[in-house]
Amino acid sequence: MTRVFDNDLDAGFGTRAIHAGQRPDPLAGAIMTPVYFTSTYVQDALGQHKGYEYARGKNPTREALERNVAALEGGRHGFAFASGVGATDAIMKLLAAGDHVVCGENVYGGTFRLFDRILRSFGLAFSFVDTRDPQKIADAVTPATRVIWVETPTNPLMRLTDLASASTIARKAGAWLVVDNTFASPFFQQPLSFGADLVMHSTTKYLNGHSDMIGGLVVTSDDALAERLQFILNAGGAVPGPMDCFLALRGTKTLHLRMPRHDENGRKVAAWLAKRWGDERVIYPGLASHPQHALAKRQMKGFGGMISVEMGSREAAGAMLNRVRVFSLAESLGGVESLISHPASMTHGSVPAERKAAMGLTDGIVRLSCGVEDGDDLVADLEQAFAGL
Ligand SMILES: *Cc1c(COP(=O)(O)O)cnc(C)c1O
Repeated sequence: MTRVFDNDLDAGFGTRAIHAGQRPDPLAGAIMTPVYFTSTYVQDALGQHKGYEYARGKNPTREALERNVAALEGGRHGFAFASGVGATDAIMKLLAAGDHVVCGENVYGGTFRLFDRILRSFGLAFSFVDTRDPQKIADAVTPATRVIWVETPTNPLMRLTDLASASTIARKAGAWLVVDNTFASPFFQQPLSFGADLVMHSTTKYLNGHSDMIGGLVVTSDDALAERLQFILNAGGAVPGPMDCFLALRGTKTLHLRMPRHDENGRKVAAWLAKRWGDERVIYPGLASHPQHALAKRQMKGFGGMISVEMGSREAAGAMLNRVRVFSLAESLGGVESLISHPASMTHGSVPAERKAAMGLTDGIVRLSCGVEDGDDLVADLEQAFAGL
C-alpha cells in the first residue's frame, strides 16, 4: 500500500497537510510524531549511527515539520528555525560582505530592523523600494545584488508584489528571489510556483495557527541552496525545540480547514467596514476597490483574514481598539482568535518615523487579524466599537 509519507507532492493539499513528512512511529506505531526530547543519539559503534548525531543538526520531530511545510509549499527541502526572524537571519547568511539586497519598503518591522540595524554593519547593502512596481525593483538592482526580498501581501499595508515579474528580474540579475509568505500561507499562495528561490515563514502565524509557539521556516527546491542552509542552520544554531515543532506540526494538519474560514471572515468584515467607513479607508486585497485586486485574484487563491483600516488619527484608532470585546488587542496574527493592533506603535515601532511616513504607514492605521470565530460576532463587535466613535 502506498502512503503519503515524506514529500509526496502529488497528493491534494489537505492530504499533504495531514500526512506529509510523517509516518507512524516505528516503536509502537503511534500515529502522532513523537516529541523527541533529546540532545544526542546513541551510536551503535564508532562511525555507525542512524543518521542522527546531535540534535542541533537534526531532530526527527523537527524533520517531520520541515518535510511537511516543504510539501505544502511544493518544495523539496525545508529548514525550521527558532523564529521567523531567525529564519530570515539564516537566509541572509547565504550572503557575504559587499553583497546588495533589494528589499520591499513595507516588510515586517523586525525584518527591516535586522537588515538596517544589524546586517548593514556586516557590510551588506540594502535598497528599500516599493515592490508593487516591478520597474522599481529592476531599477534598484546593481551588479552586487544577490537577493530580492519581498513580502506579499505586506504587513500591514496589504501591498502586493507581482511574483512572476519579480522572479524574472531576479533571474536576469543572477539574484535569488526570497518571498516572506507568512500572510498568505501556502494554502493561498505558493511562491515557488512563480519562480521564487526561497520561501520564508513565521510559523508563529497561520501555519501554527493557535498562538502557542514561535518559529520560522525556509523552503527551497534548490539542492545547492538546501545544502548551504542545512550548514548555516547547524553552524548558526538558531534551531527550534521539538515541542514547538510538534505544536506547529499539529497546526499545519488543519491549515486547509482554517484558511477558508479566515478568508470568509476577512471578506465579511472587510465588506462591512467598507460600507460603514468607506472603501478608500479599508485595505483588503479581496475588495474590488483594492488597487491590486486583479493581481491578488491572479496570484492568490484567497485573501485571508488580514485587514487594515485607516481610522484617521491615533486618537480614533485608540478609541476603536479600546472598545472591541471579541477582538483582542495584541501583536501577532494568524491564530484562531481574532486580534487587533496598532502597527505604527506595535509591530512597526522599530521603523523610523520618516520611513513610516514615506510608505504611508500612518498613526491612524488599525490592523485586524480575523480569526475563525463566527463572522457575525466579529462584525457585531466592530459595530458596537464604531457606534461609540
Ligand atoms: C511575525 C512575522 C515575522 C517574524 O516572525 P517571528 O516568528 O515573530 O520571528 C516575519 N514576517 C512576517 C510577515 C511576520 O508577520
